[in-house]
Amino acid sequence: MTDLRKHFPITSGMLRRQVAAVKAVDDISFSVRKGETLGVVGESGCGKTTTGRMIMRLLEPSAGKIVFEGHDITHMKQRQLRPLRRDIQMIFQDPYSSLNPRHTVGAIVGAPFRLQKVKTEGGIKKAVQEILELVGLNPEHYNRYPHEFSGGQRQRIGVARTLALRPKLIVADEPVSALDVSIQAQVVNLLEDLQDEFGLTYVVIAHDLSVVRHIADRVAVMYLGKIVELADRTSLYESPMHPYTNALLSAVPVPDPDKRKGRERIRLQGDVPSPLNPPPACRFHTRCWKAQEICKTVEPPMVELKPGHQTACHFPENAPAGAAETVAKSA
Ligand code: SF4
Repeated sequence: MTDLRKHFPITSGMLRRQVAAVKAVDDISFSVRKGETLGVVGESGCGKTTTGRMIMRLLEPSAGKIVFEGHDITHMKQRQLRPLRRDIQMIFQDPYSSLNPRHTVGAIVGAPFRLQKVKTEGGIKKAVQEILELVGLNPEHYNRYPHEFSGGQRQRIGVARTLALRPKLIVADEPVSALDVSIQAQVVNLLEDLQDEFGLTYVVIAHDLSVVRHIADRVAVMYLGKIVELADRTSLYESPMHPYTNALLSAVPVPDPDKRKGRERIRLQGDVPSPLNPPPACRFHTRCWKAQEICKTVEPPMVELKPGHQTACHFPENAPAGAAETVAKSA
């Protein structure tokens, strides 16, 4: 993904003239490596779900480029996208609303086969039953309906539907946030097992940093339509450089309070500003306790300050010596 933007126009009058735009995603770039899990985190409204929907091409980007396995899919027509739908699939947040209550499990999980016309009816039943077993359900659940299952089992049905066509990339949008905490770990473990078995690549979108910590290899932190930090998991969780990441991490509960030493809870002031009219330069400056004059006038560039660890801040924390000078030179 390069220089990706999604601006939703606000129009007015009979002629529907554009008068403003909601800058849901505003110039972000990142890549996802084969076989890895990239976590995308941030508060609600930061643009993470819009990003996931653009990767799926459920939304067309306003600008920028999406390349999947060497193919530029940014503006492909739906007909051209059809073969790619096998390779890129999505797990939705809510296992209650994402499954049609009038369809049996067999119809739901078998739908991708029917849409892509890749199997006979007999073949579909056998394949669906095999997938149900893979995700920890009973093949005899084939003729049952979603309301007969618990939340965790429903999410397993959603995962089974996603797996039907053996995709390469799965975008999981808040895959466990609608589930009880006791069930979340089971679904996370299932996703990890399936990744090992099928070599899947995941983009996991979440507001909960503790979920991403368990599953992600690398993590991108978004704020108001921008990626503000991107790093491998250990570096991001142990030495976050962007003040916003630091604030998010300080809010994650820890079982042993002694382990929080040196990381007091940071309470951010105010609400996230509107993406209709985001603050200039560093978008976080209205809430950042480290903000200085330059933060209000010069947008901090995304700079790699340690191998594999990039951030966009004029005054990064936990950064190696000379980091501020490196940022200043890049700005
Ligand atoms: Fe805070 Fe300035 Fe860094 Fe923005 S650039 S996060 S305002 S210190």
